[in-house]
Amino acid sequence: MHSFDEKALRAAFVNASRKDLSDMTPPDLGVVDFDRLDYLGWRDRKLARRAYLVVPVPELDPSGAPVPDGAERLVGIVLRQAEAAPRARAQCSWCQDVRLPNDVVFFSAKRAGAAGRKGDTVGTLMCSEFECSANVRTPPPPAYLGFDVDAAVRERTGRLRELAANFGRTLLGDEG
Ligand SMILES: [Zn+2]
Repeated sequence: MHSFDEKALRAAFVNASRKDLSDMTPPDLGVVDFDRLDYLGWRDRKLARRAYLVVPVPELDPSGAPVPDGAERLVGIVLRQAEAAPRARAQCSWCQDVRLPNDVVFFSAKRAGAAGRKGDTVGTLMCSEFECSANVRTPPPPAYLGFDVDAAVRERTGRLRELAANFGRTLLGDEG
């Protein structure tokens, strides 16, 4: 994803209250390797169960295709981790990694705008420390002779980007 600064990060949030934003501890963006991320996710060092996402959502033309200049909107999302742990061997719905190198937890996010103010939330199962981008870049074991490992990584990275953008769009709903 493209890099951005803290000002852009703060401006991206679509479901945060003023208090959520003032309580937020942002990550050190100077050490983030944006080239190897499809979305940015981090946990709040000071608030238990609080986490955040910033997902790039490509702008679409009226036919639903990405606009030619590749413009995208950053959508910042406040997440809350559910108290209950998901069932054993849950799969992350973002990277869909079947090799389970990390824990997967259940997060919920308030929708943007009026829907969120009414208490409407969206839930998602995700890698607990947002390892998805690393997971999809880990070459899979070759499935057969001649299996194109690089193509498999590209495909998984593309799918992760699409799922991240879809989550951003779902959260925006009519507020987009
Ligand atoms: Zn994941």
